[in-house]
Amino acid sequence: MVKAEGVHKSFGLVPVLKGIDLEVQPQEVFCLVGPSGSGKSTFLRCINHLEKINAGRLSVDGELVGYRERGDRLYELKDREVAAKRRDIGMVFQRFNLFPHMTALGNVMEAPIQVKGESKSVARERALKLLDRVGLADKAHSYPTQLSGGQQQRVAIARALAMQPKLMLFDEPTSALDPELVGEVLDVMRGLAEDGMTMIVVTHEMGFAREVGDALVFMDDGVVVEAGHPREVLTNPQHERTKAFLSKVL
Ligand code: ATP
Ligand code: MG
Repeated sequence: MVKAEGVHKSFGLVPVLKGIDLEVQPQEVFCLVGPSGSGKSTFLRCINHLEKINAGRLSVDGELVGYRERGDRLYELKDREVAAKRRDIGMVFQRFNLFPHMTALGNVMEAPIQVKGESKSVARERALKLLDRVGLADKAHSYPTQLSGGQQQRVAIARALAMQPKLMLFDEPTSALDPELVGEVLDVMRGLAEDGMTMIVVTHEMGFAREVGDALVFMDDGVVVEAGHPREVLTNPQHERTKAFLSKVL
């Protein structure tokens, strides 16, 4: 579903991704862990067209990110082509960024109506189903300020799902939450995984990675240091850098 081959990304002269190789299979829960500044968010942002890579190849669902390939030539996608591709990728951030002036239901309905031109009734019906799926059927008419952090994050997940993405990116979705609210968000993510959603999850929740993850990559300083099944990497890390990191988070 996602394939990275020698992906490089610099900001100015500062290299941040220094040749990332990895492959995410369809329906996989792919966990990305690593220290602060290792490039995890940057990598997710490259997948979602928020940053452009400088070298290498990055593809989603068999299509290059940001480019069209014809023969051996690459053509940059136009803005509206990029926008069309981004619709297929849902992203959930550490901060929920809900629209404050809209109810939970309004937040979830917004993009399908504005971006896809869906009718209000269709968007509303799906939004209600999604709110139910994230356990918030009774909060449809609440505003973000009336919701806890965990509830807001679940609305944010429902909002991303409303666009019916084929891939979901999670960037530390629980790290801004009070500890007692983490579980409810992880439970929603677990449900999504069970339903077969392809997910890339940047997280420090090693319990989640171990129980739900199909693959885990440890990144440090812009490279993949170690990759494998989460249980293998977490219980038997091979590299010193992985061991040092895990000893701090486990
Ligand atoms: P964290 O765990 O703290 O979220 P991360 O692994 O997600 O870290 P990134 O946010 O990808 O790390 O950042 C990697 C490096 O790239 C950092 O040194 C950061 O300062 C730098 N960086 C990220 N975005 C930009 C930008 N827009 N301009 C310049 N430098 C950037
Ligand atoms: Mg980050």
